[in-house]
Amino acid sequence: MKNINQGCDLYRKIYGGERITPKEALELFSWDIIDLGMAGDMRRRSIFPKEEVGFIVDRIINFTNICEAACAFCAFHARANLIQSYELTYDDILRKIEELIAAGGTQVMLQGGLHPEYGLNRYVDMVKAVKSRFPEIYLHSFSPAEIMHMSQKSSLPIDAVIKALKGAGLDSVPGASDLLVDRIRKMVSPKKITKDKWCEVIYCLWRNNMKSSATMTYGMGETDEEKIEHLRVIRDVQDRTGILRAFIPWSFSPSKTRMANILPATGIEYLKIVSIARIFLDNITYIQAGWLTEGLKLAQIALAMGVNDMGGVLMEEVVVKATGIKTRTNSRELVEVIKNAGKNPVQRDSQYRAIKIHN
Ligand code: SF4
Repeated sequence: MKNINQGCDLYRKIYGGERITPKEALELFSWDIIDLGMAGDMRRRSIFPKEEVGFIVDRIINFTNICEAACAFCAFHARANLIQSYELTYDDILRKIEELIAAGGTQVMLQGGLHPEYGLNRYVDMVKAVKSRFPEIYLHSFSPAEIMHMSQKSSLPIDAVIKALKGAGLDSVPGASDLLVDRIRKMVSPKKITKDKWCEVIYCLWRNNMKSSATMTYGMGETDEEKIEHLRVIRDVQDRTGILRAFIPWSFSPSKTRMANILPATGIEYLKIVSIARIFLDNITYIQAGWLTEGLKLAQIALAMGVNDMGGVLMEEVVVKATGIKTRTNSRELVEVIKNAGKNPVQRDSQYRAIKIHN
């Protein structure tokens, strides 16, 4: 790793608060991790000058694992003689939300496989069932791939799909971006939407006045240039729309997938991604720690390198769990983890407004 000459142009640019180019972002991979982390933290302070770290009490409800995309990097979808298929009923979903509310939760993420028999009506009815029973719950649900699936299955334009979901009560849509590089998408998820289609869905959400987020799954055989290309796509989309509330990077968990021969990315790689993303994505306020895949201890270090949100407590999550990852947490533990990192924990809502400040 390269020790940084504090007089170099890139150092001056970063500390001067200037936007950096993709080529300069690529150079950051060679920086010493401590220098890079300090630069990431400085940029975090310039965008978000408080020492607060938010988290939300939420639950992911994966309503089916039947999926016609069958991505190579996914351990969750049903496979003959390997993983039993399931579909939750609306009653199952409502019961899970009741449990979330009893635990003080405010947000639900409904997400599922691309079920060959689910058209738009199925999703609209699901949203209506939740909202008519629990109007107070914020539905941050589905994904650009699911929206495209609804559009194809029902032969409707994306715009009509989004309007119908919004009309039923959907509040916002997670970005679920994977890696926005078509060379990698063709290898790991050829039946899922392309990078351009992902952007199209986000632009359509924007035209319908809905918010989203962006994620990043790295460690699937991409180059550093492709990692930066992913960040560039997201920065450009955010320049145009401003609808991405947060960016959430995490490493690919190969175990139990069809790509199980790939070595998992290391902790240093994760911290580099976090800091580079914080410096490069100068138009996104919240960068979340991927504690589920990276572990709470690494997430704690990320809080000193550009991260300013812990994301959800994830009262239930089965997609990452399918790869064998067992990390779980709860509000009490997250509060301690954040405090122990020298930050002030804040339970927040889906719009990043404080609900409870933990002193
Ligand atoms: S990642 Fe999503 S789209 Fe791909 S197989 Fe898994 S559930 Fe289906």
